[in-house]
Amino acid sequence: MIIFTSPNGSGAEAHFVRDRNVNQATSTAPKIHRYQCPGCSADLIFEPRDGCLSCPYCGRSEPIPASAAEVQERSYDEYLKLRPEQLAKISENALEVQCTGCGTTVTFSPPQVAGDCPFCAAKIVAQPQVADPMLAPEGVLPFKITQRQASDAIKAWLASRWFAPNALVQLAKQELASSVYIPFWTYDAHTTTHYSGERGEYYWETESYVETDSQGRSVTRTRQVRRTRWHPASGTVARWFDDILIAASKSVPPERLATLEPWDMAELKPYQPAYLAGHKAQRYQLELADGFEHAKAIMAPVIESDARQDIGGDEQRLHQIATAYSGITFKQLLMPVWISAYRFQSRVYQVLVNARTAEVQGERPYSPWKIVGFVLLLLFIGIVLFYLSQQ
Ligand SMILES: [Zn+2]
Ligand SMILES: [Zn+2]
Repeated sequence: MIIFTSPNGSGAEAHFVRDRNVNQATSTAPKIHRYQCPGCSADLIFEPRDGCLSCPYCGRSEPIPASAAEVQERSYDEYLKLRPEQLAKISENALEVQCTGCGTTVTFSPPQVAGDCPFCAAKIVAQPQVADPMLAPEGVLPFKITQRQASDAIKAWLASRWFAPNALVQLAKQELASSVYIPFWTYDAHTTTHYSGERGEYYWETESYVETDSQGRSVTRTRQVRRTRWHPASGTVARWFDDILIAASKSVPPERLATLEPWDMAELKPYQPAYLAGHKAQRYQLELADGFEHAKAIMAPVIESDARQDIGGDEQRLHQIATAYSGITFKQLLMPVWISAYRFQSRVYQVLVNARTAEVQGERPYSPWKIVGFVLLLLFIGIVLFYLSQQ
C-alpha cells in the first residue's frame, strides 16, 4: 500500500486511484502530493530496474498498479481550440523551472531539485514555480535502464571514440547522467489526395546516324533509341497514417533523437504521475499544430509515391498535388532518456542514452593533439617501412 500525503502531512491512505470521486467545489480532502514510503516516510522514486516505486533509504518497493485505461488517441481538431479545462499540470505538485542557458522548461516534483540543466549543463539559478497547465501526456515509456547502466554505456561509448580528449573521458567518469522524459507527439490521419500530372510511356524508334569507318569513309547506320510519350493523368489516392512520431523537444537536435529510435511502443503505459517520481520531464517546446506540420512533411513523400504508382507507366510527372487531412488524432508521449551534457572548451556536447535499449548517441569533441600524434605516428611508420624496403 502506498500512502499519499499532502505537504502538511495529513496522511490519506489510498490505492492508486487517479480520478477519485471528489466533488471539487465542496471537498476539503487533501490533494495527492507525494508517493511516500510506508516504512520510513521518505519519498519514493520510480526505479527503472524493476519498474516499481522504491525507497532509496530503506529499500522498500511498491508496484505501480497496472492502469485499466488504454493509451488514448485524442481528437486533434477538438484540442486545437485548447479549452483551459483541457489543460492540466503534469502532476499535482509539479514545479517547473526555465534554464537561462538554453531556454528549455523542465518540470520536476519535490523533493527533487532543479539542479543543473540536463540539456546544457548550466546551473539553474531561477526559482522553480508551480508548473503551468499543459496538454497532459497520454502515454509514457517508463525508464528501464538504471543510472549506473546509462553511465557505464556512456563511458564505454566514449572509450570507443577515436581522438576523444582525455579531459572529456575524465569528465565522463565523474559525471552521472540525468534522467529526463522527452515529449513527443504522435499523429494519426486519414489523407485524400487529388493529383494531376503526366504518365510517361517508353517506346523505341529507329534512328539513322552517320559514322566514319576505318577507311575514313562516311557510312550511314541505324540504332534503337528510347523515347517517352507523355499522357495527361489525374486521380485520387487515399492513405491512412498511423502513429507518426514527432519530437516535441528543441533542446536535442531532432536527427539525434531520431537515431535513438526505435522505441518499443508496445510497452507504452497510460500516463501516471508516479512514473515521474524522481525523474525530470521536459515541457513540450513544439506546439501541437506545429508538430502536425512536421508530420505532414513525413507523409508527403509517401503520398507522392502513391500518386506516382497510381499514374503508372514508365515515368511520372506530378504537377499538382492537394491533400485533405481528416480524422486526425494525436497523443503526447513521454520517452525516457539519460542525458550527459558536457561543457567542454565553452561548447556544450550532449550524449544521450535510450533508457529502454541502452543505445548511446551523441557528439564529442576531437582532440587535435591526439590527431597530430596519430598522423606523426603514421608518418614514422611510413619512413621506417621505406627505410626497410631500401635495405
Ligand atoms: Zn523507506
Ligand atoms: Zn539548459
